[in-house]
Amino acid sequence: MKVVVIGCTHAGTAAIVNAANLYEDIEISVYERNDNISFLSCGIALHVADVVKDPQGLFYSSPEALADLGVNVKMKHDVLDVNVDNKTVQVKNLETGEIFEDTFDKLIVTTGSWPIQPPIDGIDKENIVLCKNYDHAKVIIEKAKEVENVTVVGAGYIGVELVEAFEMLGKNVTLIDAMDRILPKYLDPEFTAPAEKSFADKGVTLALGQTVQRFEGQGKVEKVVTDKGEYQADLVVLCIGFRPNTGLLKGQIDMLPSGAIIIDEHMHTSHPDVFAAGDSCAVIYNPTGESAYIPLATNAVRMGTIVAKNLVKDTARYMGTQGTSGIKIYNHNIASTGLTELTAKEKGVDVETVLIKDNWRPEFMPTYCEVTLKVVYDKSSRVVLGAQLISDEDLTQSINTMSVVIQNKMTIDELAYVDFFFQPHYNKPWNFLNTAGLNAK
Ligand SMILES: Cc1cc2nc3c(=O)[nH]c(=O)nc-3n(C[C@H](O)[C@H](O)[C@H](O)COP(=O)(O)OP(=O)(O)OC[C@H]3O[C@@H](n4cnc5c(N)ncnc54)[C@H](O)[C@@H]3O)c2cc1C
Repeated sequence: MKVVVIGCTHAGTAAIVNAANLYEDIEISVYERNDNISFLSCGIALHVADVVKDPQGLFYSSPEALADLGVNVKMKHDVLDVNVDNKTVQVKNLETGEIFEDTFDKLIVTTGSWPIQPPIDGIDKENIVLCKNYDHAKVIIEKAKEVENVTVVGAGYIGVELVEAFEMLGKNVTLIDAMDRILPKYLDPEFTAPAEKSFADKGVTLALGQTVQRFEGQGKVEKVVTDKGEYQADLVVLCIGFRPNTGLLKGQIDMLPSGAIIIDEHMHTSHPDVFAAGDSCAVIYNPTGESAYIPLATNAVRMGTIVAKNLVKDTARYMGTQGTSGIKIYNHNIASTGLTELTAKEKGVDVETVLIKDNWRPEFMPTYCEVTLKVVYDKSSRVVLGAQLISDEDLTQSINTMSVVIQNKMTIDELAYVDFFFQPHYNKPWNFLNTAGLNAK
């Protein structure tokens, strides 16, 4: 069986490593336009802040490791065209310029996503950069050395993590977002307000509820102009979001209007010999049961692994996602899963919520601190749909527990009496997750 893989970061690497280990009678060729594979973008902010000193630690595989598995690894090769019916790909060797054709029995599309670059006046100015891959990381780090004023556009996870990193480097940092809060998709105001306060206390300018109108400067960017103000900027990082990178397959397999490839629970696309995984795809969002675009490395590695398992025969099923995520902003350990109260309202889902604040372990222990937990549940069925947590103590793993609760459609009343251990080092006789269930109306 001849398998062609397009793109090799997380979904691609997972598909290839698993397929190479699972099947003997398989010939895998992977085409990747970059010169590296498996880069963990989540480490960019940590590297910018100098917490991670050696960027090599941000790779968990290599072209050589895949070649050792017998894979035909073609780095710096760009796939220019795909014909799924003829089962051919047209490829350009980016080093020699040579263009050639390859054929496949099965195609794995792991082309991922690319940052959104809106057509804002002046967006092409020097020092306006993206943040996605290793090359971007190197550019950001190099440019950050020579600038004073940094503006980050976009207050999602990536933007917020970069803001903290630049502030730690001693830069004068501005964060701009059209929404009036940071992280509005993942967290309700009870969880974003403490983090915003910490940013403000550190001198970060939070230019929220503002839309960028234009970038000004002679060649290099010097200023960002919004509908409400102007901000000096020698470096701008655009963190506005991501789009699926699926133009190659447009019109050949089914996609959402956004370009996210529609896959079934076994990672098949609408074409029987084409699989897809990772940021190029839509996923099933369990709290609503809808197809959604939730580009996360966690989804990518799971989906890539499942593609490999199902290449010959369907043996593994993707269970969908809750979009579970975590973030550390200064002393705040924050995590969320599923719907927030506000996203539920936006989607017209009728929910109740319960919010508890408690010390995470008994007050007789030498140290303890507060944890705030909010659980969102369906008003009529009482099925849990989301949860958020914040604490100075790292209790974020509890949100993984809540992810399982949502995945398995447990009710808030069942949560009250789930069996959790008690040991004073770690929690109270009533685990705070139980307490949320007990306090629900
Ligand atoms: C700064 C940052 C921080 C993040 N932090 C987290 C985090 O903490 N937790 C988390 O779960 N997720 C995080 N993510 C998201 C995560 O990185 C992505 O979900 C993940 O990279 C998706 O993997 P993928 O393999 O599907 O796609 P991608 O990473 O987009 O990789 C696609 C690959 O395909 C290649 N490619 C595309 N088209 C072609 C072509 N035509 N020919 C050849 N090659 C091609 C690209 O060069 C690329 O290497 C973060 C992302 C960023 C940018």
